[in-house]
Amino acid sequence: MEVKCRYCGQETVVKNGKAPNGLQRFHCQACRRYFQVEYRYNGHKPGTAQRIVDMAFNGSGVRDTSRVLGISKDTVIRRLKKISPRPGEQSTASYR
Ligand SMILES: [Zn+2]
Repeated sequence: MEVKCRYCGQETVVKNGKAPNGLQRFHCQACRRYFQVEYRYNGHKPGTAQRIVDMAFNGSGVRDTSRVLGISKDTVIRRLKKISPRPGEQSTASYR
């Protein structure tokens, strides 16, 4: 996973444990700042896909779902597209 520093844009970034909210935390060795990354990471957390589906079935819109789960609208839409199309085919195969 390629991570760039959100402040200086360098790739001199190392993992630095997790923040209290569960997000991956990173430390930039160039500017020595800390920051969190939620894109991608959250979308692939086990259980998130299921929660997206649950919320959709409960009538939550894409915007609500992305806000509650803390993931991007794109992630929600992509996940829903993967789940709906073919009956009988489970979406777990596309998991990374
Ligand atoms: Zn930096």
